[in-house]
Amino acid sequence: MSDSDNWKARTRAVHGGIRRSQYGEVSEALFLTQGFVYDSAEAAEARFQSTGSDEFIYARYGNPTVAMFEDRIAGLEGAEDAFAAASGMAAVSGALASMLRAGDHVVAARALFGSCLYILEDILPRYGVEVSFVDGTDLAQWRAAIRPDTRAVFFETISNPVLEVIDIAAVADIAHAAGATVVVDNVFATPVYSRALSQGADVVVYSATKHIDGQGRTLGGVILGSAEFIRGTVEPYMKHTGGALSPFNAWVMLKGLETMDLRVRAQARTALQLAHALDGHPGLARMIYPGHPSHPQNVLVETQMGAGGTVLALDIAGGQRAAFAFLNALRVTVISNNLGDAKSIATHPATTTHQRLPDDRKAALGITLGLVRLSVGLEDPHDLIADITAALEAAAIGDP
Ligand SMILES: *Cc1c(COP(=O)(O)O)cnc(C)c1O
Repeated sequence: MSDSDNWKARTRAVHGGIRRSQYGEVSEALFLTQGFVYDSAEAAEARFQSTGSDEFIYARYGNPTVAMFEDRIAGLEGAEDAFAAASGMAAVSGALASMLRAGDHVVAARALFGSCLYILEDILPRYGVEVSFVDGTDLAQWRAAIRPDTRAVFFETISNPVLEVIDIAAVADIAHAAGATVVVDNVFATPVYSRALSQGADVVVYSATKHIDGQGRTLGGVILGSAEFIRGTVEPYMKHTGGALSPFNAWVMLKGLETMDLRVRAQARTALQLAHALDGHPGLARMIYPGHPSHPQNVLVETQMGAGGTVLALDIAGGQRAAFAFLNALRVTVISNNLGDAKSIATHPATTTHQRLPDDRKAALGITLGLVRLSVGLEDPHDLIADITAALEAAAIGDP
């Protein structure tokens, strides 16, 4: 056992995975190279036969900066191994497509990020994979849907945008009894508050675009799991289909991991302050924050994550007109569709991220016309509370 095996998460996030060159640089080197030079033809032949973790061939297969990011996040999550991907969606699609084949059955929670839903509902069935959808918070539905031939289950630990929380350990128990692999998209839980692998998930995927970058610069993703799954199943698929993470983006993500704990905890603290300040506000039909006692699964949130995360959902009283008036009155918070950023971001899911869904499905997922998703950033909490409450007043004054 080396010293680093005993490091706590914050130490791993700063020092984990580092590979220093002969120059002994302090900050991680950015190896912006597609390929690698061999000393001889024999060395090239040998390199193509070897599987060593520091023997690089081509950046689509692996790169030293990307490997540093993979090792650092794997250490943080307590995963045996990780494969970095070009985006969160490259990670989600790679994790699923690499393990599934025609005739397999998958059970997924219904409340999903739009592109995740597209993969499960439109793409996988084209290749002969059957997908059943359930209300992820209802264990009876998981029990009824999982069959002996179910190969995988897939869900977002906190759903987007209405922030329902799925009980990882309970769903994993049901899935494992049928021999199914549990794949979770853990973006909203964040690597800071997640213990998904120790709670029963077999595979965890992240959009690193969100809290890992944390400052809105680059796209990236990562798949975490056992060494056998990552090297035996994911790697052959990813390296031949081309979803590799750019070394530059991996370098940004590595530096993002160093500050992620501080950022995410500060953002979650502000989100909780905001939830307390907005609770019962007359301008809101509903306020949803997993870390607030009013959340129906607040007890599960506390045991599964220990905090409510960095995102709130606000159902503005007065529907779409009021929601748009609210958005247009914001002065600190920006209107956009990313999340986990240092800048607070407000999104109107019904007309943007979930626009594609027919009205009845929006209604079934709780995506009302007044709903605004609020990703809380690193601004001073007082400025944010003032910004949100002033915008709620502006939205209410606009009411006839
Ligand atoms: C953003 C997001 C994704 C996709 O990530 P990209 O990096 O944009 O490809 C997948 N799942 C969830 C829950 C997300 O929030």
